[in-house]
Amino acid sequence: MSFSDLGLSDPVLRAVAESGYTEPTPIQEQAIPVVLMGRDILGSAQTGTGKTASFTLPMIDILAAGRAKARMPRSLILEPTRELAAQVAESFDRYGKYHKLTKALLIGGESLTEQVKEIDRGPDVLIATPGRLLDLFERGRLLLTDVKILVIDEADRMLDMGFIPDVERIVSLLSRMRQTLFFSATMPPEIRRLADAFLINPKELAVDPPATPAETVAQGLLVVNPSDGRRPGGGQREKRAALRQLLHQEEVKNALIFCNRKRDVGILHRSLQRHGFDAGLLHGDMPQPARMDMLDKFKDGQVTLLVCSDVAARGLDIPQMSHVFNFDVPSHAEDYVHRIGRTGRAGREGRAFTIATPEDGKYLSAITRLIGKDIPRITLDGVETGDLDEAAERRGRRRRGRGDRQHEAAKPEKPARAKSRRDGDRRGGDGKTAEPRGSRTKVKRGADEPVVGMGDHVPAFLLREPPTPKKP
Ligand code: AMP
Repeated sequence: MSFSDLGLSDPVLRAVAESGYTEPTPIQEQAIPVVLMGRDILGSAQTGTGKTASFTLPMIDILAAGRAKARMPRSLILEPTRELAAQVAESFDRYGKYHKLTKALLIGGESLTEQVKEIDRGPDVLIATPGRLLDLFERGRLLLTDVKILVIDEADRMLDMGFIPDVERIVSLLSRMRQTLFFSATMPPEIRRLADAFLINPKELAVDPPATPAETVAQGLLVVNPSDGRRPGGGQREKRAALRQLLHQEEVKNALIFCNRKRDVGILHRSLQRHGFDAGLLHGDMPQPARMDMLDKFKDGQVTLLVCSDVAARGLDIPQMSHVFNFDVPSHAEDYVHRIGRTGRAGREGRAFTIATPEDGKYLSAITRLIGKDIPRITLDGVETGDLDEAAERRGRRRRGRGDRQHEAAKPEKPARAKSRRDGDRRGGDGKTAEPRGSRTKVKRGADEPVVGMGDHVPAFLLREPPTPKKP
């Protein structure tokens, strides 16, 4: 099938051709004609499937038929992160280059005044993260009653990040007379419930997730041998040395280097700079202008290595990335696929290396199960390799109850607001707890504090008077 069979206008087809796309991806093939018909959509698709164009292309044609009014946008795209919102805005510009549509990008961390100006100009499309949108609404800066098309993108990520109450509030402000396009990579019950509430007779579409890393990504696994024994979280020095050696011997044009924790992003970044590498950093606690600035520098090639966390780098579309390095083995197997999927995009070749310690055995076996094959082991001259600890899985399971310093005590990076609203966390669905784990482990007890073995509960049998022994 070709793009011209989907019912798109000539100017949109021209912009698509200039983007270098020759044929639609499966989600585009399925979604575009349905959106053009005005139907609601419930789409199971994640980033990397061409999902963005599947809703922006038909939206551009639908919006071309009308005219915007000041402060009353005609369509709204909700995104969970600022980076994703900015990326969708870029796509809108690219695909809409032959149309005179206007957009406003409303994301946290950027100047409110500029965003208010954009709204006042009367945008055809608002692309927003939920918090900033509500903020501007509550300040009386925009009206949402004229929104005729609503896109909720990455709904499960919104759930992970605690945004669902905001999304529900936003939807309650819109007219029922609208078309809703709802996308989520996974469909846990909470997401289904929302879809049922927001959509009317939707067309359900599903495309396979890119569950296996692109064939064009060459993968390698290096297991270092920690000099500080097998204590959890050990081997950091060896991992840094191994990474430096890999960076020297690989032909790295540009690379993302993933850490599991924000704190380690900072440590590794400083270490790489001290060793003379051209490295930047990206994590969720950085102010938004600094994040955008760093991304621009990385995209322009002014910074070669970007040390980052999963949240900050999720869904980033940086074409022509030569390498991805996992400085830490991700504790959720699907993050491995997301991470290494940043390279080898659109049929290009990419290389992805993972640095592990023996303790990572359990996480690596989950990854192997997900991708359906082993990651080939590599060795480096002068780097002593370790063996994956086969018993780690069993120990890990036991330790989960107590907290594991490397993977479990580390609070996964989440925006601050996620704390109170994590009851439906997607990761809770696979039997693992959704709460930041290990938060119980770091309590230091003073010598004079009583040790209470059973919490407040004292079993009834301990409170009963012992029976008086019968006299013989
Ligand atoms: P997305 O899933 O929307 O994040 O898109 C992933 C990547 O695929 C982006 O780099 C898009 O530019 C690219 N892309 C989208 N549609 C197509 C297509 N039909 N052919 C080739 N690449 C595409």
